[in-house]
Amino acid sequence: MATAGKVIKCRAAVAWEPTAPLKMEEIEVAPPQEGEIRIKVVATGVCHTDLYHLFEGKDKRGFPSVLGHEGAGVVESVGPGVTDFKPGDKVIPLFLSQCGECKFCKSPKTNLCDRNWSSKYYDIMSDPITRFTCRGRPILQFMGTSTFSEYTVINQIAVGKIDDDAPLDRVCLLSCGISTGYGAAVNTAGVTPGSVCAVFGLGAVGLAAVMGCKNAGASRIFAVDINEEKFEKAKVFGATEFLNPKAYNKPISEVLAEMTNGGVDFSLECVGNTEVMRTALESCVKGWGVSVLVGWTDVKDFSARPIQLISGKTWKGSLFGGFKSKDSVPNLVCDYMSGKIKLDEFITHKMSLEQVNDAVNLMKTGQCIRCILNISK
Ligand SMILES: [Zn+2]
Ligand SMILES: [Zn+2]
Repeated sequence: MATAGKVIKCRAAVAWEPTAPLKMEEIEVAPPQEGEIRIKVVATGVCHTDLYHLFEGKDKRGFPSVLGHEGAGVVESVGPGVTDFKPGDKVIPLFLSQCGECKFCKSPKTNLCDRNWSSKYYDIMSDPITRFTCRGRPILQFMGTSTFSEYTVINQIAVGKIDDDAPLDRVCLLSCGISTGYGAAVNTAGVTPGSVCAVFGLGAVGLAAVMGCKNAGASRIFAVDINEEKFEKAKVFGATEFLNPKAYNKPISEVLAEMTNGGVDFSLECVGNTEVMRTALESCVKGWGVSVLVGWTDVKDFSARPIQLISGKTWKGSLFGGFKSKDSVPNLVCDYMSGKIKLDEFITHKMSLEQVNDAVNLMKTGQCIRCILNISK
């Protein structure tokens, strides 16, 4: 490629400071260094975690940055020492790496990789080791990925190589929300055939959790949300019953206990709200109920009565659905292409990178499930 080894100037949406609208800028993207890959981003989803950084986390040290972590693209060039990727390969940037060598990668018990940006820079949610500059300033790479840019540079330990025929404007969704919800059900909760499940929150992650419960063979799947408009969509992914907590004058955990003879076998919290986390735990049946935290938040403590756990319930959580990222994402792409998992049904809007602030607003006001931004051809 003519651009290999050179600085690329390209368009990106820069988050200069918390809460302010993103600004379209021309940025400089340096060539990939040892072990790195420069990727031409083709499409990206907009995820709640992008909004979280901008509107809730608001840590000034995490700015200026380029947001976006749900992308897919094509390798433009590779740095020294990269042998598994070549220009033209279709790839998915991963916010969670898999180096294959650290003690966590070597253990089958977890998907956390010690070499991930989050091991050191978790509080600012960005990687300060960046190949981006703009107006003479370094621009941080949000979650190590930064897909709201035409080009990005990522270490090969955080890139998944996918099928040449995969449609990038759909499979990009597998780099965060969908894998997170789906894996939380099939991996972390370990939903079993014939079980009764409840999913709290019907955004993309919650709907993916519903799909996971269904594919794992659950017999009843309660979809819980205060926005009843989302129930139709939940049905598409396999939900069998629908509950709006606002329609009852008693806690929804009691309603669920009555409807299921004591509580559900598995509950999944997909909101990122500590009160809902407590409710999801309380909705489980004693003895064996498992409640999984899926929604992301780190600004509040949660609480529950100890008897909830003493009575035999398990409270757990996972990041990225428990999937070992580099190994699993290419397989999930195949699962989509063979019809085992749905992706198209999550997509409610398509826009250009220039419309990124409109997409952020749609997400913020709950008007979309997933908006795909077309970044480049
Ligand atoms: Zn995300
Ligand atoms: Zn590792």
